[in-house]
Amino acid sequence: MTSQDHDDWSTAGFSTRAIHVGQHPDPLTGAVIPPIHMSTTFKQDGVGGLRSGFEYSRSGNPTREVFETALAGLEAPGDREAFGFAFGSGLAASDCILRSLLSPGDHVVIPNDTYGGTYRIFDSVAAKWGLDYSVANTQDPASVLRAVVSGRTKLVWLETPTNPMLSIADISAISDIAHQAGAVVVVDNTFATPYLQQPLSLGADLVVHSVTKYLGGHSDVVGGAIVTRDAGLAEQIRFHQNAMGSVPSPFDCWLALRGVRTLGIRMDRHCSNARRIVDLLLEQSDVLQVFYPGLAGHPGHEIAARQMSDFGGMVSFRIAGGEEAARRLCAATSVFTLGESLGGVESLIELPAAMTHLSVAGSELEVPADLVRLSVGIEDVADLEKDLLGAIEGSRLGS
Ligand SMILES: *Cc1c(COP(=O)(O)O)cnc(C)c1O
Repeated sequence: MTSQDHDDWSTAGFSTRAIHVGQHPDPLTGAVIPPIHMSTTFKQDGVGGLRSGFEYSRSGNPTREVFETALAGLEAPGDREAFGFAFGSGLAASDCILRSLLSPGDHVVIPNDTYGGTYRIFDSVAAKWGLDYSVANTQDPASVLRAVVSGRTKLVWLETPTNPMLSIADISAISDIAHQAGAVVVVDNTFATPYLQQPLSLGADLVVHSVTKYLGGHSDVVGGAIVTRDAGLAEQIRFHQNAMGSVPSPFDCWLALRGVRTLGIRMDRHCSNARRIVDLLLEQSDVLQVFYPGLAGHPGHEIAARQMSDFGGMVSFRIAGGEEAARRLCAATSVFTLGESLGGVESLIELPAAMTHLSVAGSELEVPADLVRLSVGIEDVADLEKDLLGAIEGSRLGS
């Protein structure tokens, strides 16, 4: 990316930046939308004579660079030293952080309800390479402090809000603890997106995303990303992005960028629809507990209100009647589609214990069997309310 991009748009609002940072009309044709450069290689004017820095599309591609620049401009507005990196999936991005920054014998602290796939990397993949991890209750900075092993802990992994329990970590308090121990802080910002929360401005060193979710926003592209303002970390990530090669295709970057342009207005609608769905759930006698950081009774509410501009579109709840009732409910909706993933324009419903979080069954991260997770989409909220209410009533035994 060029510092020019950030200088031009540093004082602009979020949606203006989402639409303009890194995205210039094509100088040759005037095309307003950056083209999809499918070329794998770039003509050199004499050996090493690169026309605009590109030589081979694993190392760098113009379409990917536009996306990476745009994303950096959202996570770190106006900062010349912001670096974005795109990957073939969120987990590929997470893997790149691990392999770039850690060595055998290092210790990592992870949240006690992190995304199941993140846990699986630490438990089943990284452990074989000699990485050690401890699980902390990241809702409580003191728990992180206890889990940190001085001199050995190199990374503190945060996810806030978490998937699927929507718990909140205090990014600045935990960053202070981690930095005092000499550890780097990573925040998985998938649920909040840079529209609602910018962890780098709260003290985190790296942000990781599943682009597959809200950033892409249309459930049609799998992708991941890392953003940092630390030039040293960026150098290590850049080296490994190329050396390990889990990069997205130019077409995937183009799709993701198309999603990013509407992130602001989509998130506003996700947030307002989710609030309405939470109100509806709270009125139902069959709903035992609602997990949503916007509720005053949520243990992380005050921190969420401080570090997020709104509470997002994800809602989880426990339903009376146990796992069987939860299974019936998930199968009974028609506007909410039963399926994994989240963050798309369409509403989704799922049973984490049997679907997205099966990989944490039997571990410290196990989720309640009667927990239902909603990704509240941007449809007309009255249709969502009607659908969910009908499914809750229909899922009662004997009805
Ligand atoms: C989906 C998800 C991931 C993994 O991303 P993929 O794109 O599926 O590899 C990581 N973190 C969170 C919070 C997620 O929801």
